[in-house]
Amino acid sequence: MTTSSELKSVSLTGKDLHLSFGTNKVLRGVNLHVDAGNTVTVIGPSGSGKSTLLRVLNRLHEPEQGDVLLDGKSVLKDNPDELRQRIGMVFQHFNLFPHKTVAENIALGPNKLKGLSKEQARALALEQLDLVGLKEKADSRPGNLSGGQQQRVAIARALAMKPEVMFFDEATSALDPELVKGVLALMADLAKSGMTMVVVTHEMGFARSVSDKVLFMDRGAVVETGTPEQLFDDPETDRLQAFLSQVL
Ligand code: ADP
Ligand code: MG
Repeated sequence: MTTSSELKSVSLTGKDLHLSFGTNKVLRGVNLHVDAGNTVTVIGPSGSGKSTLLRVLNRLHEPEQGDVLLDGKSVLKDNPDELRQRIGMVFQHFNLFPHKTVAENIALGPNKLKGLSKEQARALALEQLDLVGLKEKADSRPGNLSGGQQQRVAIARALAMKPEVMFFDEATSALDPELVKGVLALMADLAKSGMTMVVVTHEMGFARSVSDKVLFMDRGAVVETGTPEQLFDDPETDRLQAFLSQVL
């Protein structure tokens, strides 16, 4: 991955984040800090609030309490659309437009939101596709690609917006097992290139080998946080021990 020359890495902080859906307290004072260029992995059982945390950090939900900072500055008063352009997001389901080509899917954001001409946006799309090893698929429809290739296109689409931070929410959970490795390798390359990343994943091998820090969430709270060695080799709480015994 050769994005580093253009990469502007920033730190990301979530401070004391609270959010409820009705009476369901989904985030109960969550703190998270990612140094510029680092990767933090978020693990935890289903329903513990991991996706909601990402959605609060990029203001798809507004926190009831707490603050979100990029590069040390609060972003809660900024236009949420501007914030979302600074944070690239990759989901479990790729949400590519099926009737557009791969290159058109990637060029759309830079053309519509970043003011690039159609030609410039296509050139950028081809460049990003090359970085994820899929240049030859530029004029194919997403439906003709494997799930792993579609997810690499979704990553290329996010990177074409030149984000300062990348979020991954179970990006490999919907993939056939033999396709997972290629996507994880691409994410690991991106982490190495100095991108600031928050990765929600059930891939404990990835969490251990790529993260600078791991956060274990349960029932809307961060129960343990530390280096991968601390959490995986020496978990302090029964809750983390029980979780690891189920997933490892
Ligand atoms: P995880 O990603 O860790 O599986 P989520 O963040 O998706 O967990 O969900 C945490 C809790 O919030 C769950 O109880 C879920 O049902 C609830 N929840 C998530 N999104 C919404 C929503 N838009 N409206 C109501 N409840 C929600
Ligand atoms: Mg989730």
